[in-house]
Amino acid sequence: MKLYSMKNNKKEVTFLEAVELGLCDRQGLFFPKKMPYFKEKEINKMLDMNFHEKSCRILNSFIGSEISKKNLQKIVKKSFYSIHPKIQSINKNVSCLELFHGPTLAFKDFGARFMSQIIHFLNKVNKKKVTILTATSGDTGAAVANAFYNMKNVNVVILYPKGKISKIQEKMFCTLGKNIKTISVNGSFDECQNLVKTAFNDSELKKKIGLNSGNSINISRLLAQVCYYFEAFSLIKTENRKNLIISVPCGNFGNITAGLIAKSIGLPIKNFIASTNSNDTVPRFLKSGHWNPKKTISTISNAMDISIPNNWDRVLELFKQNKWDIKNSKNLKFGSVSEEQTKKSIQELYNLKYISEPHAAVAYTVLKKNMKKEDHGLFLGTAHPLKFKNTVEKIIPIKIKLPKKIIDQNNIKSISFSIDPKFSSLKKFLL
Ligand SMILES: *Cc1c(COP(=O)(O)O)cnc(C)c1O
Repeated sequence: MKLYSMKNNKKEVTFLEAVELGLCDRQGLFFPKKMPYFKEKEINKMLDMNFHEKSCRILNSFIGSEISKKNLQKIVKKSFYSIHPKIQSINKNVSCLELFHGPTLAFKDFGARFMSQIIHFLNKVNKKKVTILTATSGDTGAAVANAFYNMKNVNVVILYPKGKISKIQEKMFCTLGKNIKTISVNGSFDECQNLVKTAFNDSELKKKIGLNSGNSINISRLLAQVCYYFEAFSLIKTENRKNLIISVPCGNFGNITAGLIAKSIGLPIKNFIASTNSNDTVPRFLKSGHWNPKKTISTISNAMDISIPNNWDRVLELFKQNKWDIKNSKNLKFGSVSEEQTKKSIQELYNLKYISEPHAAVAYTVLKKNMKKEDHGLFLGTAHPLKFKNTVEKIIPIKIKLPKKIIDQNNIKSISFSIDPKFSSLKKFLL
């Protein structure tokens, strides 16, 4: 597989190099030079395969001979072990794709675990020490920490915005210790993400600690996510596949990039919808043509509190590669949702006998606004409602029971270091 840097398309790397580097010079994101393409007949064959077989087929079509099929099978099995996606029917026309049945109860497990297995694979060969520097708006932290926990030669450093993630989210990665270091930053997620990107510009750091990123900057995370869109399609009833539209709750736009990649390689999704909360830089851009990020606002769908989404440039690149017009709503629909409306949708879903949480509720809201009579709508359940217990219990009359493991974790003291959003403070910590 060949990838180029979006800041310098002469700079070409292999898949394994791209995973190892994370980000290219001048913060260039890597993008595949040429996508595979599956014809209808092949797609139909794949739909009959189980999730692991399907994933191997898809990933192999991207990665090629850099990883043998046998090794890829092992990697997929370890990565996607026990995190099978599920479809929940809400009513005749709407379903939820639940992606939160993995160890840290959010869809981020798919990408983080696959990335960790690739790093582990690389490590067996080159035995270099690596540091996985990651910014989290809530769920990436736990997924990355869990995926790399106790892995030899790997140090993980996670930055999160102080006081802006839920308690359960925080306890899931700030109580582990060992090779997992956590830093609470006095600032927003965008500032945390900016620190990560700045660190990549520092050649001293890069060399000394073998810097890499666990964010969706890393291409391995996105490729892993392409797999569950194919799985979702095969789990949908045949009669609902023809006019399938998928609403994705967006923060950094990694998840929807993966969905659009799935479409571009042949999966016949009619339409994608980019759904955001009040941090609506992209919806405003698509409406007006102006890129005008505002200060990040804290919302109840905190994992989407991002005003400068990292992967948006990849979405634009994908549209360019496919010669799709971004302005044409046939290709990409969008919408943003207020806090009030998010709460109303959680209540509405509850009346339909479905317990949801704020992120999925944002996707559901925009989905409903964009559905035509003939459509079947799928919205993505990106996190388990129990991760947002306090918020959800204030909106609908239920009590969410926590598993023992989480109650125990909540009682452990967090062991985070605290810094202001200054690169010098981060560098000092890392060195
Ligand atoms: C990370 C996250 C999102 C946003 O996903 P992106 O790939 O960053 O767009 C949405 N919902 C939840 C629960 C998340 O953790």
